[in-house]
Amino acid sequence: MNIILGAGIAGLGAYCADNSSYIFEQAPKAGGLCANFAINGFLFDKAVHLSFTNDAFVRSYFDRVKHYSHHPIPYSWYHEQWLQHPAQNNLYPISAEEKVAAVKGFMEREAKNNPSNFEDWTRSQYGEWLYENLFKPYNEKYWCTDLKKMGIDWIQNRIYRPSVDEVLYGSYTFETPNTYYAKEMRYPHTGGYEAFLTPVIQQAERNHHIQYNKKAVWIDIGRKEIKFADGETVSYEQLFSSIPLTDIFQMLTVCPETVKEEAAKLEYTSLSLVSVGFRKNIHLDKMWFYIYDRDIMAARAYMPSVKSPQNAPTGKSSIQFEIYFHPRNGAPERDICIENCIYALEKMKIADKEDILFTDYRILPYGNIIFKKDTIKTSKRLTDWLRTNGITPMGRFGEWKYLWSDQAFLSGYHVAQKQITNGEKK
Ligand SMILES: Cc1cc2nc3c(=O)[nH]c(=O)nc-3n(C[C@H](O)[C@H](O)[C@H](O)COP(=O)(O)OP(=O)(O)OC[C@H]3O[C@@H](n4cnc5c(N)ncnc54)[C@H](O)[C@@H]3O)c2cc1C
Repeated sequence: MNIILGAGIAGLGAYCADNSSYIFEQAPKAGGLCANFAINGFLFDKAVHLSFTNDAFVRSYFDRVKHYSHHPIPYSWYHEQWLQHPAQNNLYPISAEEKVAAVKGFMEREAKNNPSNFEDWTRSQYGEWLYENLFKPYNEKYWCTDLKKMGIDWIQNRIYRPSVDEVLYGSYTFETPNTYYAKEMRYPHTGGYEAFLTPVIQQAERNHHIQYNKKAVWIDIGRKEIKFADGETVSYEQLFSSIPLTDIFQMLTVCPETVKEEAAKLEYTSLSLVSVGFRKNIHLDKMWFYIYDRDIMAARAYMPSVKSPQNAPTGKSSIQFEIYFHPRNGAPERDICIENCIYALEKMKIADKEDILFTDYRILPYGNIIFKKDTIKTSKRLTDWLRTNGITPMGRFGEWKYLWSDQAFLSGYHVAQKQITNGEKK
């Protein structure tokens, strides 16, 4: 039989292409990073999740689910003020002195032809002031790594590069055009982001093709067998894996130590999520926002109850903070994180301590891949090694690529589809 490891969106995408395969998932439910969790009638996603896919095929799946279409207007919190996002071309609220320094730095920036690391790239794109005051503090919180050690291949259109006119214009007025890379953000009416995947999950469950609490711990590529933590062993013909590269290599019974060591060196961030339920409706017109200031541990926050009012009981509301950490340094302490998020709520004048009904702290072991200068080459070598040895990697951590959920879905779909086509040709 064909086996899919992981019931995240990549694994479910693979199942859409090959619905005779069997999915094994370590968690008690499907969805992976796209799954949600419920507390006292409140629903939270695992970090901000909205769909902005332009892919017609993914839309044909997602659009089966009733959803809201939100116009994205993200904000940034910088020194006690709300700036529209991206901050570099929305500097209107900052002081005159800061504007002069920011615009001057931008105009004097030295556009290097071949910056080789993220710090140099950012300095050469935005100038000294914007780098030191906005990009550096935010990106250090988000990537938890020395920006000089990061590569630049992953940037693509993820960070907006304004013209001088746009920087100047945005420093004179709030009325700037929306330059965010997505023009529409879709989110299910009910059931959280995970609801986009529910029809596929239900199909796999109806077919008895999905098993939960099945953590793969050992893979024998010679015998084509997988052993699970509960002791069961299953054989496979084709194996599709969305297990992180850092983990899967440690599970292989036969694999050169040098290859295992290379996989173990890949870096990624983890997240501490602080979710807050409010006893009343907090009126914040910001669905999600970025936090530049260092005194606030979170790099980002979003309001689940603004994404969909169904995410909170009537008359109540919610927020979730994303605090990133490098697993090498261990997770920040629960109480410190919660205390800091309450401090942030009060400082940003979003809510008072008395408005809080509950707080929840949980950890997501895998957040973002940290793109060092050689990460893309290393992950290519590793995924090629897996393919040569009969394991097809897929998804964000299986392929070790900066994939959004739609891309992870397509990653799974395409690898399974390709194997079916190859099988038919034989
Ligand atoms: C903070 C954050 C915000 C994001 N926001 C957005 C957004 O707004 N829009 C968007 O489109 N995308 C967003 N993404 C990206 C999106 O979440 C991912 O691209 C997508 O969920 C990855 O899916 P996946 O199936 O590849 O991986 P995962 O969701 O990680 O799924 C892998 C699955 O494998 C299982 N597994 C792991 N090891 C084992 C094992 N040994 N045995 C069995 N099962 C195992 C895991 O439990 C998991 O269920 C965001 C990501 C992050 C981190």
